[in-house]
Amino acid sequence: MTTMLNVESVSKRFGGIIANSDISMHVNQGEIVGLIGPNGSGKTTLYNSIVGYHPIDSGSVQFEGQEISKMLVPQIARLGLLRTFQQTRIYGAMTCVENMLISVPHKEEGIFALLQRHPKADLERCDELMEFVGLYSKRHLMAGSLSFGQQKLLEFAMALMNEPKMLLLDEPTAGINPTLINGLLDRLLRANQEFGITLLVIEHNMRVIMNIAKRIYCLAHGQLLAEGGPNEIQNDPRVIDAYLGA
Ligand code: ADP
Repeated sequence: MTTMLNVESVSKRFGGIIANSDISMHVNQGEIVGLIGPNGSGKTTLYNSIVGYHPIDSGSVQFEGQEISKMLVPQIARLGLLRTFQQTRIYGAMTCVENMLISVPHKEEGIFALLQRHPKADLERCDELMEFVGLYSKRHLMAGSLSFGQQKLLEFAMALMNEPKMLLLDEPTAGINPTLINGLLDRLLRANQEFGITLLVIEHNMRVIMNIAKRIYCLAHGQLLAEGGPNEIQNDPRVIDAYLGA
């Protein structure tokens, strides 16, 4: 198996708070891996450390064998590694298609130039992805008029516009009704199987993560507490304690 993302002894402090302490983990190419842990355990900080939102204090992060821990977000995105956010980051007063077109970070002309230019390849890809997430008939509606769950699907499609090799998803199903959760999970699995996108997923919904991830890492108090398959993790007394004690 080829290692796609390798995190080695990463530590990150905010003043006196040790948000990540000596964390090592890896994700192989083609895998779906879960990242769980109580609130405040350091999951978001780890994402931000990996994709270049802030410098790490020590340790190393490699993507496809290349050291990326000194790189910034756009540079890492260009290598094919992106994160999504728990709160959707879409422009409600723009159409779905417009949101899709401005989501491509390697276009550096700015929003207005980009909207006027409409590169054909981007438009075609945009249509395909709107179809993929089931929003094709709504593609010219204002994104703000979509339900929260549909906005999450739009955001997922926006991430796919960048043709990522790997996505770090932050609670993709949070706040979505059960019907749309299944629709979204289906899209995540298809993105993994059909487009070959490797996924690391922070998720609080245990049913969801136990279903889609073959391996799961659990953080607590900024440290790696446990790693294993869904059954192992579910029955690990340290994991149970961390959640009950949270
Ligand atoms: P999780 O995503 O697991 O809920 P976080 O990574 O958001 O955890 O937070 C880990 C710890 O780091 C928490 O104690 C949080 O308050 C702290 N923290 C996170 N980001 C910052 C920041 N920018 N400044 C100060 N403290 C932060």
